[in-house]
Amino acid sequence: EHFDILEMASEVLDQFENKVERKGLYIGFDQEYNHPIFVYADSEKIYRVLTNLVSNANKYTDEGEIILGFSVSSGHVTVSVRDTGMGIPPEDLSRVFERFFRVEKSRSKGRKGGTGLGLAIVKHIMEAHNSKVSVISTFGKGSTFSFKLPLSKEEDLDSTEDDEFESED
Ligand code: ATP
Ligand code: MG
Repeated sequence: EHFDILEMASEVLDQFENKVERKGLYIGFDQEYNHPIFVYADSEKIYRVLTNLVSNANKYTDEGEIILGFSVSSGHVTVSVRDTGMGIPPEDLSRVFERFFRVEKSRSKGRKGGTGLGLAIVKHIMEAHNSKVSVISTFGKGSTFSFKLPLSKEEDLDSTEDDEFESED
């Protein structure tokens, strides 16, 4: 269905804010967004994707920030979750989306247990959307996970919501 990915991201942010700030981390958007970004996707599943990624960013980051970014181009939005955490060793980068895979170093450092399923679920959900999730990471510096979703076309939106789309030009 159609929904505003920014509104959803704000909810996820609110949900994690206390937890994240108690650790002394900052969580926020990369810039101020003044307009909604409507996407066409399964909202419950995408909510799961966002919470899994933000939860990881929080779990594997000891200081710094977690930043959500949105970049719109040619009918799509790329959503990114960036952290300044421990990062992922290059040799493990291709394996983090496998079920039950956990980076050895994160385990030995005594991170709160996890099953190693979060990212496998994210990958599965993005595949069901004919999309994919990707990661860029520098070990010891941080990670950025991103995924792409189609924007919904304005003519697909419910016409009863028309007054919400008054042109500001
Ligand atoms: P679960 O999500 O099932 O509770 P998990 O967090 O260990 O457990 P995944 O979310 O699938 O499992 O992540 C797999 C592994 O990838 C993690 O164990 C961790 O080693 C690494 N990882 C995931 N996200 C990050 C991140 N933002 N920074 C550093 N390492 C990460
Ligand atoms: Mg996880």
